[in-house]
Amino acid sequence: AESAGSSLLDGLDPEQRAAAEVAGGPLLIIAGPGTGKTRTLTHRIADLVTSRGVPASECLAITFTRRAAEEMAERLALLAPDAVDEVTIATFHSLGVLILREHGARFGLSASFGVADPERQLEVALSVVADGKEARELVDAGDARYKKALRAQDLVDFDDLISLPLSLLEESPPLVSGYRARWRWVSVDEYQDVDEQQYRLLRLLAPPDGNLTAIGDPDQAIYRFRGADVGFFLRFREDFPGARTVQLTRNYRSSTAVVTGAMQVIAPSSLVPGRELRPMVDHGAAPIGVHHASSEAAEAGFVARTIEQVLGGASFHAFDSGRVVGDGTQGLGFSDFAVLYRTDRQSRALVEALTQSGLPFQKRSHDRLADRPGVARIAHDLAFAGGSTVLERVRAVAGDDHTAYELLKPLAAECGADFERFHTALALGVEVDTWDPRADRISLLTLHASKGLEFPVVFIVGCEDGLLPLRWPGSDDVEAVDEERRLFFVGMTRAQRHLFLSHTSGRPKSPFLAALKAYEQLGDAQPKRKRKGTQLSLL
Ligand code: ATP
Ligand code: MG
Repeated sequence: AESAGSSLLDGLDPEQRAAAEVAGGPLLIIAGPGTGKTRTLTHRIADLVTSRGVPASECLAITFTRRAAEEMAERLALLAPDAVDEVTIATFHSLGVLILREHGARFGLSASFGVADPERQLEVALSVVADGKEARELVDAGDARYKKALRAQDLVDFDDLISLPLSLLEESPPLVSGYRARWRWVSVDEYQDVDEQQYRLLRLLAPPDGNLTAIGDPDQAIYRFRGADVGFFLRFREDFPGARTVQLTRNYRSSTAVVTGAMQVIAPSSLVPGRELRPMVDHGAAPIGVHHASSEAAEAGFVARTIEQVLGGASFHAFDSGRVVGDGTQGLGFSDFAVLYRTDRQSRALVEALTQSGLPFQKRSHDRLADRPGVARIAHDLAFAGGSTVLERVRAVAGDDHTAYELLKPLAAECGADFERFHTALALGVEVDTWDPRADRISLLTLHASKGLEFPVVFIVGCEDGLLPLRWPGSDDVEAVDEERRLFFVGMTRAQRHLFLSHTSGRPKSPFLAALKAYEQLGDAQPKRKRKGTQLSLL
């Protein structure tokens, strides 16, 4: 067992390995961007079950998104193929479904209850609407009449998936002991983004002296507007006395310029005392490029032209210093570029410019899977199709609709033969991701949607005061601005080789840019015209 253990952990660096090897008890892994959080967590679980005699069925790994759960399952399947099916890998919401399937009777739910999607929620609320109230208000307030009507139809809504299991466990110590005995090894990813209910659920599942591993980066906490509270991360050691803390400081993603710049930006409000991030990969010496454009359209034009130039090859003399930013740009395809922005509205100018230039792109949106073209039809026709598994039937009814089939394939495969799961998941899919990481297209993403991803070349447009930080009524408090700074930090640290930051004359420059000590000012990219001083031409 010893030698198998060491070979499994061989792919980790000393810090990652130290984290993976911690024997048991509460463990907090504080890890910056690109330091290999997922890698560390999956190796830890794989090592526990293959070399340390932990039954795979005792392992529960909680992630925030379905995509993250899928990625974890894929990686674990490579490391511990015999154990992966026994490990419970769940999002907080699918964990809620699991608990309610087992104990939902307490709320009058059958074991096959359904999850109401927003339309169904409104329908149910409309059926009980009274006193001049709007149906939407009843839903938002979790009105008792609305909830009763939901239950009468054997339904829960999305919020119930956390709140009902929570109240079940809070009322019933024996249930708590039961789950604690089932999952003796609990890990949670992106712990900086838990909200209060998720936190309470987690504390019930993991006793203070239990084997809980929390991993995350407080400087990447960006979901305060949704109720997330980075305070839970910061007080882990009080909640779990005797907790071990390990830091991962080696960045395997970004160039030295990107790591250095990102650290300068986050420094004024970093939540990690003495934060360190060390670049481990050599992506050449290209500096961060900053560009000032006269308008949003001009800015989008800059993005399109720069992409064309980088793709055009190594003859891309971006900088006056005579340095050629050809290194590392060879062999890039469209999928290696991402354009990030603060608000979805900003994507319009980009879509226009990329379309005009004939550059292929995809916009990441979080539509409901059920709302994607073709999906509703397939879900409906499924009942009449031949085939024993969900996947077979989906394939049969999808026909020529390859796009819808590709969208549904992972979910269908996961559902095996028990259709109800498929329909529940469709209803659960409020956050289904339309972005295909394998498509050879330029990615257009909001900064929030870029979380966890990496690209060789990254543009952040609209680096302006008012957009970064975004200003809205009541947004002026220091905490809101700190969160915007963290969001900018998340965006910058997506870049592997090249990072371009741009702003327009529409607003003052983002105050976050002031922290950057080294960058190259790129000119307007007017063909062959060099600017004076540090203003340099792109062509
Ligand atoms: P983020 O906070 O941005 O989500 P992360 O900590 O989750 O970052 P990963 O995406 O897991 O980082 O890893 C970043 C990159 O570094 C990946 O391409 C990964 O394969 C690589 N990587 C991680 N650890 C190592 C290692 N020990 N040796 C080589 N490459 C590594
Ligand atoms: Mg990650």
